[in-house]
Amino acid sequence: MSGSPTIELLAPLSGVVVPLDQVPDPVFAQKMVGDGLAIDPISNQLLAPAAGTISQLHSASHAVTVKTDDGIEVLLHIGLDTVMLKGEGFKALVRVGDRVEAGQVLIEFDATYVAKHARSLLTEIIITNGDRVARYEPASNFVQAGKSVALTLQLAEPAGAAAAKPAGEAVSGLIRIPNPTGLHARPAAVLANAAKTFKSDIKLVRNGDEANAKSVVGIMGLEVQYGDQVFVKASGVDAPAVIKTLADLLLSGSGEDVGAAVKARHRPAPLDTLRPVAAKPKSDDPNTLVGVSASPGLAVGQVFQLKQVDIQVAEIGENPQIERRRFDAALREAGKQLEILKGEISDASKAEIFAAHKELLADPELIELAIAGLGSGKSAAFAWRAAYTRYAEKLSQLKNEVLAGRANDIRDVGQRVLRLIVGVAEARIELPANAILIAEDLTPSETASLDRSRVLGFATTGGGATSHVAILARSLNIPAICGIDEAAVKLANGTTVILNGSKGTLRLNPTDTEMAVIRDKQARLAKKRAEELAAAHLPPVTTDGQHIEVVANIGGLDEARQGVELGGEGVGLLRSEFLYLDRNDAPSEQEQTQIYGDIAKALGTSRTLVIRTLDVGGDKPLPYLPMPPEENPFLGVRGIRLCLAEPDILRTQVRAILRAAPFSKLHIMFPMIANLEELRAAKAIVLEEKAALGINAEVKVGIMVEVPATAILAEQFAREADFFSIGTNDLTQYTLAMDRGHPKLAKQADALHPGVLNLIALTVQGAHKHGKWVGVCGGIASDPQAVPALIGMGVDELSVSVPSIPAIKALVRKLNKADCEKVAAEVLQMGTAAEVRARLSKLAEG
Ligand code: PEP
Ligand code: MG
Repeated sequence: MSGSPTIELLAPLSGVVVPLDQVPDPVFAQKMVGDGLAIDPISNQLLAPAAGTISQLHSASHAVTVKTDDGIEVLLHIGLDTVMLKGEGFKALVRVGDRVEAGQVLIEFDATYVAKHARSLLTEIIITNGDRVARYEPASNFVQAGKSVALTLQLAEPAGAAAAKPAGEAVSGLIRIPNPTGLHARPAAVLANAAKTFKSDIKLVRNGDEANAKSVVGIMGLEVQYGDQVFVKASGVDAPAVIKTLADLLLSGSGEDVGAAVKARHRPAPLDTLRPVAAKPKSDDPNTLVGVSASPGLAVGQVFQLKQVDIQVAEIGENPQIERRRFDAALREAGKQLEILKGEISDASKAEIFAAHKELLADPELIELAIAGLGSGKSAAFAWRAAYTRYAEKLSQLKNEVLAGRANDIRDVGQRVLRLIVGVAEARIELPANAILIAEDLTPSETASLDRSRVLGFATTGGGATSHVAILARSLNIPAICGIDEAAVKLANGTTVILNGSKGTLRLNPTDTEMAVIRDKQARLAKKRAEELAAAHLPPVTTDGQHIEVVANIGGLDEARQGVELGGEGVGLLRSEFLYLDRNDAPSEQEQTQIYGDIAKALGTSRTLVIRTLDVGGDKPLPYLPMPPEENPFLGVRGIRLCLAEPDILRTQVRAILRAAPFSKLHIMFPMIANLEELRAAKAIVLEEKAALGINAEVKVGIMVEVPATAILAEQFAREADFFSIGTNDLTQYTLAMDRGHPKLAKQADALHPGVLNLIALTVQGAHKHGKWVGVCGGIASDPQAVPALIGMGVDELSVSVPSIPAIKALVRKLNKADCEKVAAEVLQMGTAAEVRARLSKLAEG
């Protein structure tokens, strides 16, 4: 031996030493976990082989890792396939983090029970950070627990340095999770997938709980929520690279468009989509069954009960090799099926649900559990079903409703593989026409493959508004209810019902009159929509000749094109954040120039294009622009405040925007302006960059009105800004002091509150005094009830969601500006949003 340090590990058990390559389990025999030895034990107390700390203890108490004071990680794994005993027969006497001395008892086990119920008692002693070891010298023959040396290790480097900071170990700093619904299935899958590209052993840690970062199920089991702080630790040859990659990924939302998600979170969602399933609503009317709105819309049809078919499986397999081949083939085929299904969903973000399902097929914990079952003689079908059912149950018990809902995804993938192992085809159900499906639960696969020509809607007793089934129903445009009263599953097939997906109600035995009313309403809505589409390219001019510009709110090139197709007269708000979010570095000037240019060209020189400069900050963090967490991010460094603090980012963006000037009527707009100084500073940057680029085309520079002070001082701002666009989403939140994403305040945070309306009126008055135009780009511009009041107050432009363009244009053409002015004067005098809505809905009724 050379002069390198050596350490000696005491035998944790008494028994005969067995070389590792003779262990009848390929994972250990092929040293996939690491090198070491095995002992066929005659004692039943597992002892610490050296002094150190407990770095891992399996929940089934059959395996424990001791990290020695020299930084060597020694995994002690009692028996083979003992994970299946789920802790039965084992008693752990230590916990993770405990300090232990050499020879201390770690786990006691019932040798008779374990020998009878598991494949073998053969216990493995493995070094999991083998990169620290230059040479292994296992003992031979018999060893005595706590007395004999079982393994001598010659270390690869001086023990002193290793003890201070073992090579191949790395830990990230704390990372705050930006995903609004935490690390649910999809981000967990993205993270696990990235982790799997590394060799290191990787753990995700939250509040002292840790999970294998290569396991989707493990990550989901940690129940990581929005705002939680986690860290990553890795041990292995590529540990530093692991930390860099995974920390960046977590910060950027693990593949989720955190910006869009945050935005969606902040949109005042109707309360019914957020109601938890737990508190199942009940109806007093026996003919109305109530649930939770999962997908809006109305359908009249006949009940069709969808029952789950039980797949029969044999418990005992042929031989482990044959069963393993069967299992592997089923996993491969399931992967192919999911790839096809993913391709059939047009909305990419929804298709990701099936990408996440595919990830589950490679989840190390799930697979390990199933393979362990094969090793103990079970059939592939039996072992797999036991594994996925166990994990589905574990998830369904989590407190977090979103994560608990993912149990359904695991069952879905599980059944897909199970059908393939057993060789039963997915049941093809002959559906009657006009079917309203009722089921205890639908899987995402069933939902995605519903025959849209026959199914008009569905209601399930399980699930919630945040389930993947609900998300898919919305993307497929099928009205749906989750968490419906259990009485629904007892309804006879063929019963006529009215399913109201928006209200979450299932109306039984409707009278002929009710049916006629609904059918009439459906027909009228369809006719109205068809007429609006046919007239989408007519100008939006009121009956008394006032042109109100109707333009689109967009987030990218596709929406710019759709807006033009639907008759949009331009773009009133390009949310440029889409280019900055969901990536690890800032978009280059060239990339931005290209995309703004493409959007401007899609609109052409006759249409307006208002590009809002970057609107991010504490509530929408950028991974490449680390910002300290803020107590009140909505009141913190966001919007223009952030851009002025990081002028290089703003200057780069402004140059890229300015280059689009020749292709459309270009406007630059700054978000979150609260002070005149901000407008002056930002405007100066535009003028300097414009001069430097030698651009002569006219480029208007305006501001968003989202802060009450800016509305009040509109006249002062109007002297220096070319135009105004009122962001009523933020203006409402700041005027009423109500978080725009707060589910309980969603109904009260109404932009038709007279306080907000008076600020809109003030903005218009101030702007018009100086001949400047005012648009509204917040959500109320797309609300038909609000439009007459906005026109009456003198708003010049309505910037609406793309699908709303034809309807809002048609509405403008029906209104009379003078009448709108009278209504506006009335509502500005009112005291509550309810009074305003009552007055405006009366107007809509005619
Ligand atoms: C608004 O605040 O109304 C607005 C249009 O901006 P955003 O919704 O992007 O914050
Ligand atoms: Mg805003």
